[in-house]
Amino acid sequence: MTTAVQVLEFPLFIDGTWRPSSSGETFNVINPADGEVVAKVAKGTREDMEAAVQAARKSFDSGIWSRKTPQERAKILIAFSHKIIEHAQELVFLEAISSGGTVRRIANSDILQLVDLLQQTAKFALEYQYVQSLPVVAFPQPSNNQIWREPIGVVGAITPWNFPMILAMWKLAPALAMGNSIVVKPASNTPLSTLKLAELAVQSGVPAGVFNVVAGPGNSVGETLITHPLVDKIAFTGSTEVGRRIMQLASGTVKRVTLELGGKSPSIVLPDADLELAIPGILFGVFLHSGQVCESGTRVLVHESIYEEVLERLAAAASAIKIGNPLDETVGMGPLVSEQQLETVLGYIEAGIQEGARLVCGGKRISGPGLNKGFYVEPTIFADVQNDMKIAREEIFGPVLSVIKYSNPEEAITLANDTIYGLAAGVWTRDVNKAYQVARELRAGTVWINDWHMFRSDAPFGGYKQSGFGRELGRHALDEYTQIKHVHYSLTTELSQRPWLGAILF
Ligand code: NAD
Repeated sequence: MTTAVQVLEFPLFIDGTWRPSSSGETFNVINPADGEVVAKVAKGTREDMEAAVQAARKSFDSGIWSRKTPQERAKILIAFSHKIIEHAQELVFLEAISSGGTVRRIANSDILQLVDLLQQTAKFALEYQYVQSLPVVAFPQPSNNQIWREPIGVVGAITPWNFPMILAMWKLAPALAMGNSIVVKPASNTPLSTLKLAELAVQSGVPAGVFNVVAGPGNSVGETLITHPLVDKIAFTGSTEVGRRIMQLASGTVKRVTLELGGKSPSIVLPDADLELAIPGILFGVFLHSGQVCESGTRVLVHESIYEEVLERLAAAASAIKIGNPLDETVGMGPLVSEQQLETVLGYIEAGIQEGARLVCGGKRISGPGLNKGFYVEPTIFADVQNDMKIAREEIFGPVLSVIKYSNPEEAITLANDTIYGLAAGVWTRDVNKAYQVARELRAGTVWINDWHMFRSDAPFGGYKQSGFGRELGRHALDEYTQIKHVHYSLTTELSQRPWLGAILF
């Protein structure tokens, strides 16, 4: 693949068709590999968001999707997954030129995850218990009682720039499977692949108005979506700071909310860890997508007996990661998403040095032929990090690893849990009993044992503490896109069988 030469143009996708912004304005999408404009995207306005919400509401209320059978919807989700395979190359390209993710990762992993999730979700939707019958009981009186699971209505999804397609799909797949209509507001750095997905969904049989995408500023179009009285739920992935704001805004219309927020995920390396697995595993855990992953293993707690050996081996292995243009299939690590993110990450590295952490490798912006205009940062490892340092407490969202020394497992667990976040955690050990003991103590929504970044379409993902609430992926995700209705059918036909009426009558 070669770098794009032609600037792409993307309108908004509302009610099954492409349309320009009501203001006629566009914004630029920049390729983080070289700082060049790769696309001009219609800049959605509050009016455009209003039109998208109205289209979603109309489609939901019409029953054209919400009243289809689970079989009909599942068939369309499977068709959507096939469409994604047909258009994989284009989707990979759009994702790489905007997010800076490598084609090596997106083509080999992200696309498969999208397809697997749609197909698994279709299967779950067929098996889902939409109706549960309760037993007939004597108290208060005989009746038939059922618990129905119904779609919520119109879902607003707000997504970040790191894994635009995957994080949109984590919301889309269960929302569509359960019969909801959806409006997605993608991040402004990376709206391209989400817009393309909407077109592919409609081509696969998702009716017009069921899946809409409005790109534009979070604080105008995003907030219009969150505060809109016709929107029933907001599903958000992004920073904890914006998550707090979304909770506040959603309270005005008492909307249900699911939040997938930031992390500062710890992994504990026990003295008996298999370092042949742990060293590459730790590097994969922290440097995948240049560290711009919410559940990156950014704090590694290493036992004092193996501390210097682990540091040496991490630094040596990190220097072997090939950094460069994400469109080059041999590249393992691409740029950061934006110049702003580059500045933020370099600021954190400077803070680490100022606070007295020992820089073991990396620490600088990368320059050189073909890299000068991109937003590249070296894989960076700090040793002798104290857990109260800024680089150990705050989410950096860049290729920066903090290595912390510990003396006993209790201390390691205390340090691991000493964070406002609780998205993921891990342990490296050969001892299965110790592994599960530690896993039990870690306060995080996912615990990886001798592994990292392993997602399954059937296993729930989400946060403890300020990493958010609600779960994506797996059967649990389907529950998040339904509401519960209790239906009571009285079996008492005689007034005399209804003594409770005596509370106010007779
Ligand atoms: P962000 O919170 O700045 O933005 C996320 C989305 O929210 C974007 O679409 C943005 O336009 C929108 N937004 C911003 N302000 C808004 C407002 N006031 N109202 C409505 N929408 C608004 O996050 P980001 O910088 O795009 O992504 C990085 C963050 O996302 C990191 O903190 C990372 O940990 C988190 N993240 C979490 C997960 C997870 O699953 N927990 C996954 C990926 C990323």
